[in-house]
Amino acid sequence: RGGTFVVAPPARHLTMSDVGGAREARADLADVVAFLRSPEKFEAMGARCPKGVLLVGPPGTGKTLLARAVAGEAGVPVIIAGGSDFTEMYVGVGASRVRALARRARESAPCIIFIDEFEALGGRRGRPNRSGEEENTLNALLVEMDGMAGNEGVVWMAATNRDDMLDPAVRRPGRFDRVVEVPLPTLADRLEILRIHAARAPLSPNVDLDVIARLTPGYSGAELANLLNEAALVAVHAGASMITGADIEQARDKILLGRIRAGVVIT
Ligand code: ATP
Repeated sequence: RGGTFVVAPPARHLTMSDVGGAREARADLADVVAFLRSPEKFEAMGARCPKGVLLVGPPGTGKTLLARAVAGEAGVPVIIAGGSDFTEMYVGVGASRVRALARRARESAPCIIFIDEFEALGGRRGRPNRSGEEENTLNALLVEMDGMAGNEGVVWMAATNRDDMLDPAVRRPGRFDRVVEVPLPTLADRLEILRIHAARAPLSPNVDLDVIARLTPGYSGAELANLLNEAALVAVHAGASMITGADIEQARDKILLGRIRAGVVIT
């Protein structure tokens, strides 16, 4: 991505109803939406503006999707970055990218900054495997966050599945002081996620999503979306115009086989 950050324009079609499960996360993020819609109301009431939200959960559970949905509902742009965009071996580059990101956000406010794989940027300082350069970059981030009063209309969001690796300083008040858990979906959540994705696919009426939800314990939202996508490919190969239950089962077997080969599942 280099040193520049892309500001994705408001995607108003994308809302919280595109996110299945993650009920607590959706509820927790409702006032971030309200704040971004009218920061002046928060200010007039003397209410503290949400500044930093840390989304914590396993890969593929919809953390990026949630950030984009918050932006979509609020009708604001989102700047998406990855923690590794800031890990540069050259002196000062990581820190200057952090400053460029903050500058870009101020220009685009109200907006959201979303940093994926945040542990690459916000990792604990003073650990033997952390370079001084990485620490400078993290310090630059803390300085930028502290330099925003909150009423600029910039909300920082970051996602990680390794919150145990984060430096405690990133959680201090005025920084990422809100933690939102985004766990793997439950059975009911999986059904909700399957319904969202199935609505966009030509499913045969014989497909019982409830059964599919029961057959997919441990699947993340991304894996469920992938399952339906693989099933669509099976249907296309068969020259069919609809996805059947058998296509989904075949796709599931294929995914399972891939996992066994990759050593993820031990039989
Ligand atoms: P990572 O930690 O690996 O970056 P993530 O938690 O940010 O993953 P997303 O990138 O948001 O996960 O998920 C990838 C895709 O999977 C989404 O664009 C969406 O299509 C689907 N998906 C994931 N979770 C959900 C969900 N809860 N509801 C609906 N779709 C989901």
